[in-house]
Amino acid sequence: MVISVAVPAPLFKCFDYLPAKDLSAKDGNDLSLYRPGQRVLVPFAGRKLIGIIKNTGITTYPETPNSNTTKKTIKLKHILYIFNENAIFSAKQLELLTWASIYYCHPIGDCFHTALPTRLRKYINPQDNAWQKLTSTKWLRTQHPYIPKKNAHKQLALIEAISHQQEGMWQDALKSMGFTLTQLKTLEKAGYIAAKECDSLATTANENNKKPPITIELNPAQRKAAAEIQASAKPFNVTVLQGITGSGKTEVYIECVRNALKSGKQSLILIPEINLSPQTLTRFQSQLNTPIGLVHSGMSAKERLSTWQLAREGIAKVIIGTRSAIFTPFKTLGLIVVDEEHDASYKQIDGFKYSARDLAVKKAQIENCRIILGSATPSLETLHNANLGKYQHIKLTQRAGKGKLPEMHLIDIRSRALENGCSRPLLDRIEKEITNGNQVIIFQNRRGFSPTLMCNACGWIAHCIHCDAKLTLHSRPPHLHCHHCNYKQAMPHSCESCQQPQLSPLGSGTERIEFGLQQRFPNTTIRRIDRDNIRKQSDMIKLIEEINLGEPCLLVGTQMLAKGHDFHHVTLVAIIDADASFFSADFRAIERSAQQLLQVSGRTGRGEKPGTVLIQTRKADHPLFVPLLSSDYDSIAKSELEDRTLCELPPYSKMITIRADAKVMSDAMSALQLLSKQLHQQFSEQLSVQISGPIEANMTRKAGIYRCFLHLFISETKIRNKVLSLLPEHCIKNNNHKTKLQIDVDPLDYI
Ligand code: ADP
Ligand code: ZN
Ligand code: ZN
Repeated sequence: MVISVAVPAPLFKCFDYLPAKDLSAKDGNDLSLYRPGQRVLVPFAGRKLIGIIKNTGITTYPETPNSNTTKKTIKLKHILYIFNENAIFSAKQLELLTWASIYYCHPIGDCFHTALPTRLRKYINPQDNAWQKLTSTKWLRTQHPYIPKKNAHKQLALIEAISHQQEGMWQDALKSMGFTLTQLKTLEKAGYIAAKECDSLATTANENNKKPPITIELNPAQRKAAAEIQASAKPFNVTVLQGITGSGKTEVYIECVRNALKSGKQSLILIPEINLSPQTLTRFQSQLNTPIGLVHSGMSAKERLSTWQLAREGIAKVIIGTRSAIFTPFKTLGLIVVDEEHDASYKQIDGFKYSARDLAVKKAQIENCRIILGSATPSLETLHNANLGKYQHIKLTQRAGKGKLPEMHLIDIRSRALENGCSRPLLDRIEKEITNGNQVIIFQNRRGFSPTLMCNACGWIAHCIHCDAKLTLHSRPPHLHCHHCNYKQAMPHSCESCQQPQLSPLGSGTERIEFGLQQRFPNTTIRRIDRDNIRKQSDMIKLIEEINLGEPCLLVGTQMLAKGHDFHHVTLVAIIDADASFFSADFRAIERSAQQLLQVSGRTGRGEKPGTVLIQTRKADHPLFVPLLSSDYDSIAKSELEDRTLCELPPYSKMITIRADAKVMSDAMSALQLLSKQLHQQFSEQLSVQISGPIEANMTRKAGIYRCFLHLFISETKIRNKVLSLLPEHCIKNNNHKTKLQIDVDPLDYI
């Protein structure tokens, strides 16, 4: 009688164990104590690890070696400890994770491990059961009258947020809204608010708010969409909700959540990493009046475990979260929403390289519930499935509120001088908007001052010493920085090659654009929004609040500024350089750039005033701009899909990338050459398999490690599964001290 356990090790199988010694003595062969999904402590390679029971059963091992087996007798070890808790993973979760482990070709133990809240991953002490009831802090408003102080906006906002909830507000919800513990403690000291330790399970259950929820009347298009989503007889139904920016997709989601609630079901809302704004939470909270749990990377381990527990017990009715929230357990799930489904942040790029969007579809199938994939610019994979009739396709083509889609124009910069990235017509237009009291977004998806530092005399360019990459010049303080490995160095005084002192920055990042605009508009507020300037979620929230006050200002930013935000005073979006991303070598370049450009354009024209978008380009006559200028994403998608069919690229084939990392290039190459040879031998007859490479990565060396790729494009599912089944063995064979192989199924990057 054995128990098969998935342990967090880089191996593709489960390991058999015997029941724990004391238990087996007492209970004999009582396998019912060992339920699939339960946590156990097992000895593994000299260590003690937390594993998950995959299944149990009777296995016969040969007692004496016969002629076919080696002399080694199999000696199973005993489980050390079984945690006295209900199964951590339900049967449905086990099914999802087991499927994912095969689909993504990733060791099963590590898949389970990734899906567990960190508190449950570690062994501390059998007595210290992490699965105990947890208390959490709630903050309540006291009777003490509060007179708002001048300039204490944040304090007032905090008092208001807490006053809105009669039953008080969870500390983690306040934190995710950008408030800090220090701010809470200050207000507590002054007697305005008080803390209460609550058993979160019990309290949330009782928390049926007495306040009537706010309702927003859906417009006819929204109402029709919500009705169609729910019309299908079978619960498992994938709907693509393609609605232009500002068309009110969120209200449609809320309506569907409301319907799920009516039939006693829970909902899971996935949002991209960068979109997790207090606005999202507030919108759902004020309209639904139901316990909502949050899952995101900024939460403490305790808060995560608590939310996991609340969802699993069916107490949290709605879970809003980023990528990893896909692993939240539910008691009875009725709806999954993946907002901005095309967003790259749904794909995990290290370790267990899953796509939360794709797992969401699988999860909906297993849970037999509805799923909405929402976006203004759906991924080609999703559109392809809609075209095949696998997904229901619903469109929202008008903005919901007062706003209109912006007008878009090109500025041809081929023969124009640029002043720190900006052309004269662009600067003139910016000036006009500021004079009229408006706000302007200047978009450049590249941080730093300049991407290149070059010697005027000999053309030498500053490179990273660890990577095959240029160093980015940053101005405050002046230094060079590698954006790939984080290496930093002081500004060189002269050229390393010819010692001549004249070095020039080429090209502009956000810092340089900010600098140029400061020179030109010294009396205007300029805010730079990129990862160097905005480090915390709370900084971003503060900034958005300030922007929404409506004072004229210039917002210079990267994609941090582009996604999701609902700005009402922005009348102009300026795109500094459309060419860099559109014309890269990645086959997804056009799809991704069009999505980004339409996203950032969607930030204007959301209020009463109409919006304009100006795009600087050196390729103004490129045919791509015809559909782009009329926000016609469908035409772009259609022509891209046609190109992809011709070349049998995704979504017309499945892509698998095997990456080899090594300190010496030839080691990495030879590991992939071997694999390539083996695949060629086995699949040479198969027309559905294209093998490309091995090739060196675009950036051959990163952080001192050489990297190369083997890309496989396979159009037949059966063959694909066969290839996938071969890969684990090959990887195990080649993973040694010299090379490390990694498999990425459905990768998002090609180069
Ligand atoms: P999307 O998610 O599609 O970009 P949102 O749901 O954020 O759009 O809606 C855009 C704006 O329109 C928001 O300010 C929202 O409050 C408003 N809005 C949405 N639906 C309606 C409606 N039915 N009536 C009035 N305003 C609406
Ligand atoms: Zn030089
Ligand atoms: Zn580097």
